[in-house]
Amino acid sequence: MIIYKSEDEIKIMKRAGELVGNVLLKLENIIKPGITTEFLDKIAEEMIVSHNGKPAFKGYLGRISKVAFPGTICASINEEVVHGIPGKRILKDGDLVSIDVGARLDGFFGDGARSFIVGSAGRKVQKIIKATWDALNAAIDKCIAGNRLGDISHTIESVAAGNGYSVVVDFVGHGIGRNMHEDPQVLNYGPAHQGQLLKKGIVLAIEPMLNEGESDVEVLKDTWTVVTKDRKLSCHFEDTVAITSEGSIILTRLN
Ligand code: MG
Repeated sequence: MIIYKSEDEIKIMKRAGELVGNVLLKLENIIKPGITTEFLDKIAEEMIVSHNGKPAFKGYLGRISKVAFPGTICASINEEVVHGIPGKRILKDGDLVSIDVGARLDGFFGDGARSFIVGSAGRKVQKIIKATWDALNAAIDKCIAGNRLGDISHTIESVAAGNGYSVVVDFVGHGIGRNMHEDPQVLNYGPAHQGQLLKKGIVLAIEPMLNEGESDVEVLKDTWTVVTKDRKLSCHFEDTVAITSEGSIILTRLN
């Protein structure tokens, strides 16, 4: 069941979203070769807590894992798709690192992710980052009342395919509000002009995951980290987007 948000609720959600956006911006400025993902996690947690927010992922029990997620961020490197556990791993020059941040503020959640180049990257990493960012932005352009959910999904798949990438099918975007995961699921593939009609008050976390090779993924023994089966690169971006009568508002971006 979709929970529609009022304009006032969307204003509160903008604050949660901007907290996530600010954390991502802060981490972007810190990421460099030689630091650990644990260090980034600590900074993210301190920042969320100091703004009276609550890390959304910490302690989360997923649909696969029975182990509570230990981090404030997910840090997924290279062939890791999503849900990488922050730890002692040191970021190396040329790595692609995806940072996913969720925060709860004043009763509502914000959820966003960015993929960054560590140091300087080769053409392969640059290309998949640009394609995934383009897929997210093209999908957000479809967030208009009167369109259908399938228009978002189809756009992501089309931009991915147009750049020679596959999309992950086992993990998807989602509705978001007073719960981190609400209906509807936002697939990264599928036919256009089908599915749920988009109306004002719908808030979605849209999260394209593009793979350099096949779309197949698997979960590592830590029960969280999702990797590509062929261990080729994967890239992930995410924004929380509200559909209003005057177009969409990207809640997790700063303006
Ligand atoms: Mg999400």
